Amino acid sequence: MIAEVIVDIASSETDKIYDYLCDDTIVQGSRVRAPFGGKIVAGFVMRLKEKSDYPVEKLKRVYPTSDELPALNPECLALAEKLTARYRVPKALTLRLFLPTEMRTGKVRELTKNYARLIVDLETISLPKTAKNQMAVAQYLAQNGKTECAILNKLYPGGVVGLEKKGYVEITREQIARNPYETLDREDKLHILTPDQARAVQTVKTDNRTVQLLHGVTGSGKTEIYLTLIADCLKAGKSSIFLVPEISLTPQMLAQLRARFGKNAAILHSGLSAGERFDEWWRLRTGEAKIAIGARSAIFAPMENIGVIIIDEEHDSSYASESAPRYNTFDVAYLRAKYNGCKLVLGSATPSTETYKRAKDGEFSLIRLDKRINQKPLPEIMIADMRREVRRGNNSPFSGVLKEELEKCLTGGKQAILFLNRRGYSQTVICKECGYVAKCEACDVSLTYHRDEDCLKCHYCGAKYGMLSACPDCGGKKLSYAGTGTERIVADLKKLYPTARILRMDNDTTSGKEGHYKILKTFADKKADILVGTQMIAKGHDFPSVTLVGILDADMSLHFSDYRSGERTFQLITQVAGRSGRAEEKGKVVLQTFDPENDVLRFAIGYDYAGFYENEISLRSAMAFPPFSKIVRVLVTGEDDKKTLETLREVFIALEKLYTDNPDKFLFFNKMRAPIKRIQNKFRYQVLMRLCDTSVLPQIYDACAEARNREVLVSVEENPANLS
Ligand code: ADP
Ligand code: ZN
Repeated sequence: MIAEVIVDIASSETDKIYDYLCDDTIVQGSRVRAPFGGKIVAGFVMRLKEKSDYPVEKLKRVYPTSDELPALNPECLALAEKLTARYRVPKALTLRLFLPTEMRTGKVRELTKNYARLIVDLETISLPKTAKNQMAVAQYLAQNGKTECAILNKLYPGGVVGLEKKGYVEITREQIARNPYETLDREDKLHILTPDQARAVQTVKTDNRTVQLLHGVTGSGKTEIYLTLIADCLKAGKSSIFLVPEISLTPQMLAQLRARFGKNAAILHSGLSAGERFDEWWRLRTGEAKIAIGARSAIFAPMENIGVIIIDEEHDSSYASESAPRYNTFDVAYLRAKYNGCKLVLGSATPSTETYKRAKDGEFSLIRLDKRINQKPLPEIMIADMRREVRRGNNSPFSGVLKEELEKCLTGGKQAILFLNRRGYSQTVICKECGYVAKCEACDVSLTYHRDEDCLKCHYCGAKYGMLSACPDCGGKKLSYAGTGTERIVADLKKLYPTARILRMDNDTTSGKEGHYKILKTFADKKADILVGTQMIAKGHDFPSVTLVGILDADMSLHFSDYRSGERTFQLITQVAGRSGRAEEKGKVVLQTFDPENDVLRFAIGYDYAGFYENEISLRSAMAFPPFSKIVRVLVTGEDDKKTLETLREVFIALEKLYTDNPDKFLFFNKMRAPIKRIQNKFRYQVLMRLCDTSVLPQIYDACAEARNREVLVSVEENPANLS
């Protein structure tokens, strides 16, 4: 047979399909070893055929791997071809999305261990006097039974091997499935569905549209609806994919899923070790596990016969990939739902404007859950006008009303959450004498001061610099700190409330697999009174004792030069506010702003999604922003400024021709420097376009694929979440 093989090398030169000879153990989708350019590389069989256009004697042969099943199933192969064509990336790059990295690099194999067992009676063993270690092993095994060879080898080197040779000991190889989160508490509350929830489940099952949007306020019990749908699939022998933003893959949630679904649930999560991910992936591939749970990348889970795909918090920006191929999770999920003939359920308290429009237009089904499960009203949001605070001489990050509420909360033995989407101590360090601003050497951005580590950090490339004792430009000793971060908030709180127990949760305090978990658990166990955090604390967490939420700077996300900034702000406020008053006691929210009249804030305070949406959609329509157009950014980056500019010119010429040939399809067209001119030593330029007709999109991708080269990266971003 002839196999059409893609070799696992992501470069445009090798981006072809190669013919190889193969034997009949190899099937479509198999992972193989292929001789290529004097080396053996991994390859994937896309198709089998009888004949090659090349002379047979010129063809090399591929060899099978020890995989028990072809790594790629037919659906994944078909999907990979579609994505390759859509995003114009090397085929190998798309295939990699479908496989755990560990499989490709061959670094992890199934975890196996060798065990030794005595197969004769101890008395019958006769050994020369010198074989002390062999005797010791025999005695050990007689006493302790089957034992791991590694342990025996450490205790008595060479003993096991000697005994095996003489036929006294049998060595067996056993596979251990690594079990992530084994130590988690298993807790699960099975609920009887409320009539609203039951109605939602029923609609998802019976409505004939593929996409079902579940628009439910925070605390309306969306999770229980998802779990019911998954459980029903499981009963029918079908599999499910359940996607959540990376940040909400909290151990509580995982424990709940494990408790309810046991070994049927497999978790694909970047916090797992390489080996654990590998095992979970194979459990899904073999069908041993039928539920894939994970962030964005779990949409590529290797399962068959899918009964439902769920995207929780569908508006979350983490669903857009930021490396090639820059796929949008919804698009991939939609293709899979169509292939499997199943429903795609999107859930959110604050759907994205694009999604909601499609639901209102009738393309998606729209299911509403307007009430919280506990029938409690949503927490009251009070506005603190920070202009007035400043006029009164209060320059601290806490308004009078927030302090008052914090005190009440603390004396009442309740918990509070304070939200500020900026980590570190202060965002910039400025010399008061000459105006010098500390900047990263590799990036065109200012450095953030971190007091814990007494250093300056770049939040774009992660570089660390020693803290300055004086201005490097003028030698001035007066340095000022601008832009308060979470670290500073904690320091200030400690001064205000010396006895309060305060936790901080942000990128700096949550490293490691269980970093988030420890903080959340400490807070859930009520071993802390105040939790200060960034965006991370906004999502999904359920803390019954929290009765106060403070949003310290509601304006921060409003003033980004991004068409989605209003939507983001509305979403963030709703999400954070939703953490308050989830149990018996009524919750409160204090929202601090310098712009209390702002429309978006007004709608957020009233939990008026419908009002917000109407306002937003008419703005977008008036400005011809998405969903009334598509923003396309071509980003050109490279270390050598001259070469980067040359490539930019090349791309620009091709795109400009497209533009002049199709003026009616473009609303906007321009090239410029990117807002951040350099990141990680790479210069950045962009061509920005707004399309009213996306039929030119394939040509844009082609032009970029053409111009891309070894030194300069050219990427296409559609409706980018981040225009920096
Ligand atoms: P959402 O995801 O919509 O914000 P959750 O799924 O977190 O809401 O549900 C909010 C709370 O209500 C949770 O504590 C959950 O355990 C509880 N809950 C959900 N469904 C029911 C039900 N049918 N009966 C009782 N409690 C429920
Ligand atoms: Zn940097």
